[in-house]
Amino acid sequence: MHAARRTVRALATGARVPRRVWDASGVKSLIGVLAVQGDVREHARSLESLGATTRLIRRPEEMEGLDGIVLPGGESTTMDKLLRAFGLRDPLRKRLQAGLPAYGSCAGMILLADRVLDATADQETLGGLDVTVRRNAFGRQVDSFEEDLSMPEVLGERSEPVRAVFIRAPWVESVGPEVRVLGTVSTGPAAGRIVAVRQANLLATSFHPEVTGDHRIHEYFLGMTR
Ligand code: GLN
Repeated sequence: MHAARRTVRALATGARVPRRVWDASGVKSLIGVLAVQGDVREHARSLESLGATTRLIRRPEEMEGLDGIVLPGGESTTMDKLLRAFGLRDPLRKRLQAGLPAYGSCAGMILLADRVLDATADQETLGGLDVTVRRNAFGRQVDSFEEDLSMPEVLGERSEPVRAVFIRAPWVESVGPEVRVLGTVSTGPAAGRIVAVRQANLLATSFHPEVTGDHRIHEYFLGMTR
């Protein structure tokens, strides 16, 4: 659909329209969603509701022409194995190193991390994000929980917090000097733990914004792709 018409329709329905989905010539962002395992569809839906075009990525050739890529939640050990089996790991590493914007949520955060605690013996990551993450960090008692998270740098100073849904989530144990901390847990036993970070072209959250219908994290990510 033509950009302007879509904008008008979105305004009429009260939807938020991201500023940077289209480039100057009116071409939409093309965002890949890694589709080897995990909650692929939810991410694709969220991105499309913001006006981006999505492509499910299972083969190296499918990364051609992408403006960004989302690495969904799932099981990082399985995703690691499938990335290798599908011949995606090395080409994806190269694209990330070359600056392809990427957003990893939960297992996707683990895939982007340079160092992983409580990993399985042969587990590898794509890396690029100078952080140490701990898998399943919140412990058995709090396998899954939700919390309102204020992320002023992402959402703006006076915006409503995001409802952060954590499902067997990692947290970020430590960050390197180039990494910006975008969100920390504020209450409970995990108070103070880092759960959202950015380093240049790489964005990662421990939680799953794609399950809440709040698209502001995806919107922020789209802003990184232009
Ligand atoms: N516990 C999973 C892992 O280690 C991540 C869970 C998730 O993505 N929801 O990969």
